[in-house]
Amino acid sequence: MRVHVADHRLIAHKLTYLRDVRTDSPTFRRLTEELVTLLAYEATRQVRVEPFEIRTPLTTTTGIKLARPKPLIVPILRAGLGMLEGMVRLLPTAEVGFLGMVRDEDSLQVSAYANRLPEDLSARQCYVVDPMLATGHTLAMAIDYLAERGADDICCVCLLAAPEGVAYLREHLAGQSIPISLVLGAVDDRLDANGYIVPGLGDAGDRLYGVV
Ligand code: URA
Repeated sequence: MRVHVADHRLIAHKLTYLRDVRTDSPTFRRLTEELVTLLAYEATRQVRVEPFEIRTPLTTTTGIKLARPKPLIVPILRAGLGMLEGMVRLLPTAEVGFLGMVRDEDSLQVSAYANRLPEDLSARQCYVVDPMLATGHTLAMAIDYLAERGADDICCVCLLAAPEGVAYLREHLAGQSIPISLVLGAVDDRLDANGYIVPGLGDAGDRLYGVV
């Protein structure tokens, strides 16, 4: 598993305001979109392309366009929805599949309550977006779903990660033969006893959409 942690002052600056408890939901949503666009730049570095000929006003030349099958973006509901717009802005022709996952507050066990993915993901590049990589169980389950359907390249984009979550994913995916990568805004200090990332930013879904 390839892990890329952003090393960019603009990303650190925007993350600081995201973490700040005084930041309201509209600002939080806007900052999330901006951060995703910056992270997506790195995440799509290896997006598959194919060559094609174009004519400029002066000559003909060979350019590139996104290859088919189209990439698939998969936000993990609910908090991943806040990252969808930023991702789609960079990859407007991508298709979107949805995974709804919820974490039991006591046991921290993850279960899926919604699954809207194409049946066949053969040869598809998939971009999973979920703001918080905490225990790693949610992303592990999402990656398993995608790999079972034939995805052959999976990149997960997260705003914040805990070292425990990255380690869990490494272990869980040790036998996985397809390329998997993580693009992270930052890796924080640790998880607390409730599975929250510290210093973190709290509950990303609540901060994006309010407590429901
Ligand atoms: N999910 C969140 O929204 N925040 C955390 O800190 C961990 C998981």
